[in-house]
Amino acid sequence: ERKAALATSSGPGATSDGHKVPLLANVGGPADVPAAVEAGAEGVGLFRTEFLFLDDSKKAPSEEKQVEAYRKVLEAFPEGRVVVRVLDAGADKPLDFLTPVDEPNPALGVRGLRSLLDHPEVLRTQLTALAKAAEGLPVYLEVMAPMVADRTDAKAFADACREAGLRAKFGAMVEIPSAALRARSILQEVEFLSLGTNDLAQYTFAADRQVGAVSRLQDPWQPALLDLVALSAEAAKAEGKSCGVCGEAASDPLLACVLTGLGVTSLSMGAASIPYVRATLAKYTLAQCERAAAAARAADTAHDARIAAQAVLSGE
Ligand code: PEP
Ligand code: MG
Repeated sequence: ERKAALATSSGPGATSDGHKVPLLANVGGPADVPAAVEAGAEGVGLFRTEFLFLDDSKKAPSEEKQVEAYRKVLEAFPEGRVVVRVLDAGADKPLDFLTPVDEPNPALGVRGLRSLLDHPEVLRTQLTALAKAAEGLPVYLEVMAPMVADRTDAKAFADACREAGLRAKFGAMVEIPSAALRARSILQEVEFLSLGTNDLAQYTFAADRQVGAVSRLQDPWQPALLDLVALSAEAAKAEGKSCGVCGEAASDPLLACVLTGLGVTSLSMGAASIPYVRATLAKYTLAQCERAAAAARAADTAHDARIAAQAVLSGE
């Protein structure tokens, strides 16, 4: 069945009744681009830029080096969308020159946007490099910040983007429950949301994403997580803005249908998952996805949510 799905899967992501859901790729650098193009990704929904910073743990890469790497990814999607996430250091991705060493709880400490606001020169160089990389290209650049907690964070990031002269849409990742709960207020400062469901699950369930013993709570089918996705998507809709998903949740074909039913406007995943998600989404109408989403949210456990969604979609 997987092979059949691959063979018939091509073109833009959409439900069977033509509701478009762009299918984008998560990439970690230029090396991941060929697979994304091959899978028919409509762009990049999450460009994790950490890879550039791993060579030298003492200092940030030069602006020139960054421009070169960003340009390679941007050039691969002419006319397409590329959503770049600024450096997400700390917690599971520590960097010597940015991450404090004495934090008792690194996941709750200075990480993501917090590190960048403490080191504005690192953020400025990255944003300037992105502006230069996009110069003269027809690509549709979007730039987003990881670990936005509230409107103050969102404003600080948007201000930094404006100061760097970046001509792009600025967005906020929703990875902290406070951001989902107050998504409308964050959307007063930025133009789009992108749900990082890996961290959102970690912080919603107080369950470390690196600890296997609590993996039950990291299950993206958890109805509480679906509630926060719904809140974010509804807020974006009310503000006339977009709300994508770029966490692992988007790569599960059935869950992708549920996320679509919750109002999510694009799905970004590892390239290998794109054909399967595209093929599954094409089997159902938006109304079916909405009914599956409602059934999943009405469940009490991740397991029951999946069974309920499956039952709706298979017409039981
Ligand atoms: C996430 O947290 O869901 C996410 C997409 O970011 P990362 O996995 O890189 O933390
Ligand atoms: Mg994250």
